[in-house]
Amino acid sequence: MYRHRSIAQFLQEIGSGSITCTEVVEHYLSQIAANTHLNAFIEVYASEARERAAALDAKKRSGSAMGKLFGVVIGIKDVICYKGHTVTAASAILNNFTSLYSATAVERLLAEDAIIIGSLNCDEFAMGSSNEHSVYGRVLNAADESRVPGGSSGGSAVAVQAGLCMVSLGSDTGGSVRQPADYCGVIGLKPSYGRISRYGLIAYASSFDQIGVFTTDIDDAALLLQVMAGEDGYDSTVSTSTVPDYQQEEPDGKKYRVAYFRETLEHPSLDTEIRTQTEQLLQNLADQGHTVEALTFDLLDHIVPTYYVLTTAEASSNLSRYDGVKYGHRTNQKDIHLTQFYEANRSAGFGREVKRRIMLGNFVLSTGYYDAYFTQAQKVRRLIINKTDAVFASYDALIMPTVPFPAFKFGEKSKDPVEMFLADIYTVYANLAGIPAISLPLFRHSNGMPFGTQVMTSRFNELPLLQLSKLLMKLYPRS
Ligand code: GLN
Repeated sequence: MYRHRSIAQFLQEIGSGSITCTEVVEHYLSQIAANTHLNAFIEVYASEARERAAALDAKKRSGSAMGKLFGVVIGIKDVICYKGHTVTAASAILNNFTSLYSATAVERLLAEDAIIIGSLNCDEFAMGSSNEHSVYGRVLNAADESRVPGGSSGGSAVAVQAGLCMVSLGSDTGGSVRQPADYCGVIGLKPSYGRISRYGLIAYASSFDQIGVFTTDIDDAALLLQVMAGEDGYDSTVSTSTVPDYQQEEPDGKKYRVAYFRETLEHPSLDTEIRTQTEQLLQNLADQGHTVEALTFDLLDHIVPTYYVLTTAEASSNLSRYDGVKYGHRTNQKDIHLTQFYEANRSAGFGREVKRRIMLGNFVLSTGYYDAYFTQAQKVRRLIINKTDAVFASYDALIMPTVPFPAFKFGEKSKDPVEMFLADIYTVYANLAGIPAISLPLFRHSNGMPFGTQVMTSRFNELPLLQLSKLLMKLYPRS
């Protein structure tokens, strides 16, 4: 029975010969088989993973150089393309569609000898916060199966939470890595916009989307980021700035300058236990000699509307490509006009939430409403970026809760989409500003559910983000 603690430890075990890739893959396949009711995977690449494990074991025996992720078992959210494998975005419209190429992120993992074990369930086209919007059905939170795992990368969070793979990939447009990480008690890292190539990531909102990782160890997150980050000729939004060594230890005794927005802790939607624990954490940091200061942020109540205006606008454009002409769901009705053909394909292919967003996006972009919504939201985004620049001119990090309340029950928020949207209040900030953010699984609620804390740094400053995260994880050791 393998128990994952860290990739470094696993590589040691592999190196010493106390375990083989084949044994580890068999372990995960049996865990996946024993937990199918969680519905975390859309597809499991069982025979392929076994073959790759055997090939890696042979590679080791031959004495060839081993990659940085040798034998590391990874699940990928089903919005990330992997050549020759189906990619569905949890939507009926992509039924039976096979990726023609692999995402750059996936290529880079494979080049370091990782094993991709399967594709993970999510909300359709990564739109949602509860994983209740997947054509493959909902994913269950392994800490309490009557509760949602969060979304949209719910399958990716649960796969790591329940030990169905070592680490996983998700995508984060407005919190889809951090929020499910919070709900499932694992680490969720969203790097800066432009740190990891999005080539091969199915687009939701292109000025927000970023690939992120789920792990149980900060060094694992650092290593995955190290492998995937950096320039890519296939994605012009990726930064050309050098990728630092993300596993560097912080200078001894480093004192951080930490800020928090007063309004985030005073918000009426915030659960009192989450508030108390976050305040306690800030106090602990101050007690340790770090500078902790409260700032004001008067735009807090505007960030969710801004996010939903801009992302639905971008989504309505990105999703216009799914028309059933060249691929995807296609009606078998005959003798219909082209418009009726599109209508039939899109009506049957998209689920409710995706349709809602396409309609919202078209509305905010329509003549007559464009300035009132889209232009206005872009202005608010500029103010948020200006505020962010001002904060990081004086502070190293910004701390706030990840989600205002712990994982809720299935059905509890699905009747009122606005209520669901408002739960994104703390996560969308980092996407609007393009900065890196991480959710750390530090706490447990009195209702038994885990919850986290969120840390952010300035753009491309993932190194101090990871270092401070490590410090916080040590401050709150897990039982
Ligand atoms: N919950 C947010 C939304 O529904 C986040 C989605 C995401 O990050 N992909 O848009």
